[in-house]
Amino acid sequence: MEKILELAKRRGIFWPSYEIYGGVAGLYDIGPIGSRIMNKIIQLWKKIFIQENSDFVVEIETPMITPQKVFEASGHLEKFTDPIVECNKCHRVYRADHLVEQILKINAEGMSTQELTNIIKDKNIKCPTCGGDLGDVRNFNLLFSTNIGPYSGTTGFLRPETAQGMFTAFKRVYETSRQKLPLGIAQIGRVARNEISPRQGLLRMREFSIMEIEFFIDPEDTNVPIDKYADMKLNILPADLKIKGEKPISIKIDEAIAEKIVLNPWMAYWMATANKFVKELGIQEDKIYFEDKLPNERAHYSSQTFDQIIILGEDKVEISGHAYRGDYDLSRHSKYSGQDLSVFKKYDKPKIVKKKIIILNKDKLNSEGKEFNKELMKKISGLSPEEVEKILHEKILGKEISEFVTIGEREEKEQGKKFFPHVVEPSFGVERCLYISIYNAYREKKDRVILSLPKAIAPYEVAVFPLLEKEELINKAKEIYDLLKDKFDTIYDDSGSIGKRYARADEIGIPYAITVDQQTIEDNSVTIRDRDTWNQIRVNEKELISSLDKLFRGEKVQQ
Ligand code: AMP
Repeated sequence: MEKILELAKRRGIFWPSYEIYGGVAGLYDIGPIGSRIMNKIIQLWKKIFIQENSDFVVEIETPMITPQKVFEASGHLEKFTDPIVECNKCHRVYRADHLVEQILKINAEGMSTQELTNIIKDKNIKCPTCGGDLGDVRNFNLLFSTNIGPYSGTTGFLRPETAQGMFTAFKRVYETSRQKLPLGIAQIGRVARNEISPRQGLLRMREFSIMEIEFFIDPEDTNVPIDKYADMKLNILPADLKIKGEKPISIKIDEAIAEKIVLNPWMAYWMATANKFVKELGIQEDKIYFEDKLPNERAHYSSQTFDQIIILGEDKVEISGHAYRGDYDLSRHSKYSGQDLSVFKKYDKPKIVKKKIIILNKDKLNSEGKEFNKELMKKISGLSPEEVEKILHEKILGKEISEFVTIGEREEKEQGKKFFPHVVEPSFGVERCLYISIYNAYREKKDRVILSLPKAIAPYEVAVFPLLEKEELINKAKEIYDLLKDKFDTIYDDSGSIGKRYARADEIGIPYAITVDQQTIEDNSVTIRDRDTWNQIRVNEKELISSLDKLFRGEKVQQ
């Protein structure tokens, strides 16, 4: 990590924000080179998640600032917390589960505050900084709060995920798009989480970007295009194997669904899509797996969650989360907003259904006094037939309700049904993708650093250099740059020695460097240098574009 942070600062990839004032933990600037890589990661995600699924995925943008009511409904106000513990002596605050994990080398994710307090006391864990006693563990809410406008009482929060914007806009998007399920709403945007001790560079930040889809489905829909990934195998660590401490298994998607390892086929579809995306970031298959989260490790809204884990050296890092959120979100927002967020599903053929009805025995009621009739109506009005059926044996003024009311049945034609769509959510952190891609691409060769990024996310595809600072070479190199720049992401550089320029190109991951030398002036040939092998080939200017095309396709080029 140290080496990556040093490279990132030196080459303008990322660095701590507000550096001149000493920085703030968990806040990072993304520099010029970092921005180029990050934009390409976002483009790649958009291509694989949105464009390739444009039949059913649309993109929107919603605000960061969110009124309190939304997070009351979503449950974040109550449950978006992490456990913290404070040192009674120096008053430093630690994330309690991480502290226990670090010191005891056990998994403490999802433990309650009481369990953590007990472990800290039983195992005599002290403040790692001053050795003082630690207090009781309590929950800390990670939402950043603010005031919307100048009035008090209008509390707002910065969103910790983009998801709530998609849920609250669901009805509008549904009605203005194809009014059909499945419907995916994608969003890429900034989020903020008041993380307790963000110390791992871009892995744990207080403000970052998320790329996520809230994918709304009919839970009975089995028509899922998993054929697209028929040949793909996923590495999955199911809950039962995880508990036994075993390794992930490699399994085809249809088998993972059939064996109920992944509970919903759409969830499997998006996990396969995530697998494809991460491989295109350059991560090898054997470094990726999906870990089933145990009930106590899952967020409050989820009935199944897989974390997509990347093995980075000794560490395991979650690059994306895949949650099955059921109908939690839309039903909660319906309840809290008073708006009906359900959808109507029309059956292919109307269904004949038997419906219970309430039958009043009018003759008998007429023979009772006014008082009785009033009391009975008070008791049953507003109740459904099913509810009335349950109280038939209760008495009013000494008489059983069943003497006056019976429950009958009537056949009705039902055209369709109303229900809350269920939600499957794949969610990626953008900066984590950036960091993991850089870590994965980092190589050292003869004391030099090479960033072996895949072409799709390299900040530039091609660099053009004149060998020496001579006018005729510079002019020719600029001509070559003009030739290439419309076709490839190209950078021109003539400052410093050629060795330094090659080193810079390697360190920021430019796959090919074209050099114009004296021979170019004589015969119009240039050299193409490969970032990873440092091999050079010489081709004629006329064949340069086709040669680069071939190289990017992984083909050999004849000199
Ligand atoms: P979550 O909603 O917690 O599953 O987060 C979704 C994704 O956001 C994760 O898979 C990570 O890639 C990323 N992420 C979560 N927390 C952070 C953080 N504090 N800093 C950077 N990325 C994060």
